[in-house]
Amino acid sequence: PTTSPFLHPGPCSVEDKLAIIHLRRDLQLPTILRQRDDDNEGYVEGKVVNTRFGSFPHSTLIGLPWGSQVRASKVDTGSRGRRGKGDEKKRKREESEAAEILTKRSKLAETEDDDGEVSTPPTPKEGAEVVAASSGFIHLLPPTPENWTISLPHRTQVVYTPDYSYILHRLRARPGTNIIEAGAGSGSFTHASARAVYSGYPEMGDVNGSTTKKRKRGKVWSFEFHEQRHMKLEKEIHDHGLDGIVQITHRDVCEDGFLVNGESPNADAIFLDLPAPWLALPHLTRSKPPPLKGPNGIAPTDSVSNGDASPKPFVSPLNPSAPVHLCTFSPCIEQVQRTVSAMRQLGWVDISMVEVSQKRFDILRQRIGIDNGAQRGLQTSPASVDEALQRLVEVEGNLRNFHEQGERTEGKKSEKINPNNREKILESLVEKKVYKEGRLVHRTEQEVKTHTSYLVFAVLPQEWSEEDEKRARAEWPIKI
Ligand code: SAM
Repeated sequence: PTTSPFLHPGPCSVEDKLAIIHLRRDLQLPTILRQRDDDNEGYVEGKVVNTRFGSFPHSTLIGLPWGSQVRASKVDTGSRGRRGKGDEKKRKREESEAAEILTKRSKLAETEDDDGEVSTPPTPKEGAEVVAASSGFIHLLPPTPENWTISLPHRTQVVYTPDYSYILHRLRARPGTNIIEAGAGSGSFTHASARAVYSGYPEMGDVNGSTTKKRKRGKVWSFEFHEQRHMKLEKEIHDHGLDGIVQITHRDVCEDGFLVNGESPNADAIFLDLPAPWLALPHLTRSKPPPLKGPNGIAPTDSVSNGDASPKPFVSPLNPSAPVHLCTFSPCIEQVQRTVSAMRQLGWVDISMVEVSQKRFDILRQRIGIDNGAQRGLQTSPASVDEALQRLVEVEGNLRNFHEQGERTEGKKSEKINPNNREKILESLVEKKVYKEGRLVHRTEQEVKTHTSYLVFAVLPQEWSEEDEKRARAEWPIKI
């Protein structure tokens, strides 16, 4: 069984395994936790992750329950600490930037926190070598395809979670499925499909619910023709413990098809994220395909070279005893047209196109009260503060009326603030933090990423001979 933290994260972070350092929702750092400092960074504490929220020695991150909040440490740079004047300036600038970001972040946390409290980070685990808490904190998360997609090193455009969850669902990817993926690119889809087809969860038993029978092992057959990308992904898959589940081949699939060392992947599902998927389709047939007509007019292949010049008989890369589900991912409608044309000629049916359009809603509690920043603004822009003050007094008044008299007074004109009471009101509002009673509001992301790609789905039915029909009739106890 695999020990991949993506599939079996266990209860705690483990040395030499991947963990995700969560700084903010959109800012996460994947890190393999190592006690020893192989890169010789020169920290007394060993290996250290430096973030804009402070420094985190790996020793403070290993062996913690997933989800733990960890405080930054003051780290000792040892001999490496002798820096030049320029370095000192840079360090000071970085520190002040970090402090600024932290202030902003804690304000955000105040608005975001559901119960209105700013949570205090817990004390780090016993024995952790935290010298002294410095600036900020992080959360430690187990890796998942979702947080890996957000944090992975981008080598290409990637397929994001809203698209790949829908694609895997339509491809009927499930434990035991063999899925072909080309091109693999940065491996975002690879990780999501590896989790979908993995069949080694002990609690699952086999497809019939029994734990004694052997479950069909699913696999991701991944192809990438760019050498460096192929090498990087191969290393990542190894580092993530996914070797047995993902098999990566360095190959131009449009030229050389999908057999691996002459062996068929026996694919039940296919995902093509390629610039010209129609060139790969003639390799995804059940028997030798006819020459394609129209702009896709390319010669059919009856052999897979694999560097071997002698022609071999046609071997299909598809599962012969099940319908095969296919998805292609193309940004332009012209690519879709050419793909659909090739699909029709090659016998694919049930062809449809979908575009996934994701919109994110931010839900937060509208803060009532006034903070020190606004108080400072009093000196610079009294007019705008007056306006804000008037609004706050109104909201406060509405709330008071509602709580004391059960009367809703929103929208009613309230009295103007007496300028003599201005300072007093301001002070009382600063004291109060009534945002538990604040109104829940939502707003959509300002920059909505609309178009990613068009998803074309199709099904290649199982071939059905007379013998198959006879066998089926003999097996099924139904009379027609
Ligand atoms: N789906 C990937 C992900 O989620 O990270 C991203 C794929 S990227 C957009 C497309 C990849 O296809 C590139 O890395 C490119 O090198 C590869 N590619 C293009 N044509 C190919 C071909 N004929 N055979 C194999 N790979 C190919």
